[in-house]
Amino acid sequence: MRIDVLTLFPEMFQGPLETSIIGRAQAAGIVDIQLWNIRDFATDRHRQVDDYPFGGGAGMVMKPEPVFRAVRHVLGEDAAPVILMTPQGEVFSHQLAEKLAKEKRLLLICGHYEGLDERIREHLVTKQISIGDYVLTGGELPAMVVIDAVVRFLPGALGEATAVWTDSFAQGLLEYPQYTRPRGFEGMEVPEVLLSGDHQRIADWRRRESLRRTWQQRPDLIAKLDLDERDRELLAAIQQEQNKSDNRLD
Ligand code: SAM
Repeated sequence: MRIDVLTLFPEMFQGPLETSIIGRAQAAGIVDIQLWNIRDFATDRHRQVDDYPFGGGAGMVMKPEPVFRAVRHVLGEDAAPVILMTPQGEVFSHQLAEKLAKEKRLLLICGHYEGLDERIREHLVTKQISIGDYVLTGGELPAMVVIDAVVRFLPGALGEATAVWTDSFAQGLLEYPQYTRPRGFEGMEVPEVLLSGDHQRIADWRRRESLRRTWQQRPDLIAKLDLDERDRELLAAIQQEQNKSDNRLD
C-alpha cells in the first residue's frame, strides 16, 4: 500500500512512523508512506499557506491553492481516496480501518489552525474522517492514528496474522483478558483454566470473558450483536453472577 500525507508539519511524523510495527512494515515494503510539506506547493514569495477568514473571526484558514497543487502533483493521473482529517468527518472505527486497508493507495490531508478553505472539502476531498468528538490543534495526530490502524490490517504487518481477528472489535466484542508470566505475582494468580492446556476450556473461558467485559464496559456493542443461543446463555449466566455479587455488596 502507498500512503501519501499532506501536512504543514512533516517532522511530527518521524518518531511514530519509524518505530515498531509501522517502521518494520515500511522497511519490509508492506507500506510506503510519503510525507509532503504543503508549504512546498505555495507559489508566492513568502510561501504563504494560510490567510485571514473572509467575513472576519479568529484564527487563520489554510489557503486552497497549495493544497490543490499538492494533491494534483502527488496523485498525477492516479485515483485514490483523498481523505481530509476533520472533527466534522465520519468517526473512525475498526470497520473503516479494515475497509481502507483494502485500497492500494490513500492520500491524507492534515488541516491546521482554523481548518481549510471550504473549496478543498467540496472539490478535492472524497472522504472526511474524525478520530473522535473533540478538537485537536492539527490533523497530524489523527493521520497517524489512521495510518497505524490501517497498517495493522496489511498482510504481514503484524507478526501473527491472526492477531487482528482476536483483537477488540474484530468480532464485535472487546478482547478477553490476557496474562503472561509469572503465574503468581504479589498474591495475584493467573486464572487456572489458562494453565490447563485444555484448548476447548480456554476457548470457552475467553468467549465468556469477552462477553463479560463487553457487557460491563461497552453495552452498546452487545446491543448491536446478533448473538447465538450459546452466547445468550453465557451472557445470562454472567448477568446472574453480577446480580448475585451486587446483592452481596448491598
Ligand atoms: N475549526 C474546525 C472545526 O471547528 O471544525 C477545527 C479546526 S482544528 C483546530 C485544526 C485541524 O485539526 C483540522 O482542520 C483537522 O485537520 C484537525 N483535527 C482536529 N480535530 C480533529 C479530529 N477530532 N479528527 C480529525 N482531525 C481533527
